[in-house]
Amino acid sequence: MLKLENYIGGELVQPASGEYLDNFDPSTGRVYSLIADSDDRDVHLAVEAASAAFPAWSTTSPEDRHDILMRLVGLIERDLEPLALAESIDNGKTVAIARRLDIPRAALNFKFYATAAMHSANESHDSVGQDAINYTLRQPLGVVGCISPWNLPLYLFTWKIAPAIAAGCTAVAKPSEVTPMTAYMLSKLCIEAGLPAGVLNIVHGLGPKVGSAIVAHRDVKAITFTGGTATGEEIARVAAPMFKKLSLELGGKNPNIIFADCNYEEMVAETRRAAFANQGEICLCGSRIFVERSLYERFKKDFVENVSGLKVGDPLEADTDVGAIVSLPHFDKIMSYIDLAQKEGGVILTGGKQVRLDGRCSEGWFIEPTIIEGLPHDCRTNQEEIFGPVVTIMPFDTEDEVLAYANSVRYGLSATVWTENLSRALRVAAKLESGIVWVNCWLLRDLRTPFGGMKDSGVGREGGFEALRFFTEEKNVCIKVTN
Ligand code: NAD
Repeated sequence: MLKLENYIGGELVQPASGEYLDNFDPSTGRVYSLIADSDDRDVHLAVEAASAAFPAWSTTSPEDRHDILMRLVGLIERDLEPLALAESIDNGKTVAIARRLDIPRAALNFKFYATAAMHSANESHDSVGQDAINYTLRQPLGVVGCISPWNLPLYLFTWKIAPAIAAGCTAVAKPSEVTPMTAYMLSKLCIEAGLPAGVLNIVHGLGPKVGSAIVAHRDVKAITFTGGTATGEEIARVAAPMFKKLSLELGGKNPNIIFADCNYEEMVAETRRAAFANQGEICLCGSRIFVERSLYERFKKDFVENVSGLKVGDPLEADTDVGAIVSLPHFDKIMSYIDLAQKEGGVILTGGKQVRLDGRCSEGWFIEPTIIEGLPHDCRTNQEEIFGPVVTIMPFDTEDEVLAYANSVRYGLSATVWTENLSRALRVAAKLESGIVWVNCWLLRDLRTPFGGMKDSGVGREGGFEALRFFTEEKNVCIKVTN
């Protein structure tokens, strides 16, 4: 069986323990490869390799860094099909979404930051009256840690690595142990692209062993993390006393607010996508749907009919809309929330059950897209992140009322608003407590914009020059001019 090894110092190497973990295909429920079960010894080696690579990499010109990263882009684009297939098998997502979204975005992440590094510039301040000039250097931090989750595996892994190494840092990166395959394939592409040894090191294994060792390592200057809020809290606890820079992209419980004056057809189609794309396993999914009362019954009927038509099936089949849930523990968690919703008085309008497929996927982990109504905004189902194909719908009467519902959760990642009334869109967007607001759309991304959450959804913003700056230390130099 294929063994996924670590990528340290430019080579694929076995873990120090010699042990491997099972890697499952969620669509069949079967183990199909093995992952290095690494520990602090492997992290230590990776940090050493990254430290050794840093002096040369940080002084490589942005043009040369660009050329190497663009070779990597070409290889990801060349391998689009095998990478998309691997992502689908590893995660359970449809191969169609991996082909359309995950893998192209991974290539784009490198393209975006390879070029951005050539366009970044530093400020200078002419201190008139003091006969001095100040200029600000932005120097790469050193070795940084990149830790990513399982829902958009290569997409989010590269979203961290690309700005880090484009900025001149070297990295020790850990993909989720639940979906390590495309990170392993990336390590082979890095070797093929001629990325200098040690610039990127990938250590596979469990979060509490490998992730925590990266966070705790004194020589790792910054941590960029995407994952659950509880893990983010733990990382902050360990990193804060060492004054590490932290970028934390955490959980969400995003509202989708629908006013009666919206563009109805477009809203229904996008609301379905925002609810169930990638099995609802996108941190930005709109899982709390608030509908103005005058539209509620019409929306409910159409939405239920529309969602009931989604095909849950083999992720490798072209016409499948909803694939497998990523892991058995996550499957159990989602099913337990469907139970909880009913105990809290919720009524299931469609879905709510496990799907059992025939043939190849008969042992896989599949759940029907589920719509629930009749729950108050402050019950656990509406307050806690489920991160699966489960949404609630709720009526509201006034703008103030729906804003209070939307903002009542501990999270503040993204929100969607549907209205044709521009003043209302501006008012509501300004009052929503979330890092991202989409008006009349969802997941429309421009990589130059700040991405991230407020409240318990995180600290810091990714994207644009913001991410490049995160990986640098500012140093102001003040020079007195003698006349
Ligand atoms: P998770 O927190 O369980 O794991 C994320 C990563 O952290 C994994 O690589 C894991 O191995 C590692 N990890 C676990 N414990 C660790 C520790 N003690 N120290 C260091 N690293 C550790 O999250 P998950 O289940 O993989 O992902 C789902 C979560 O990610 C959801 O809450 C979702 O909302 C969130 N998410 C957020 C964004 C965003 O941009 N805000 C994007 C995608 C996913």
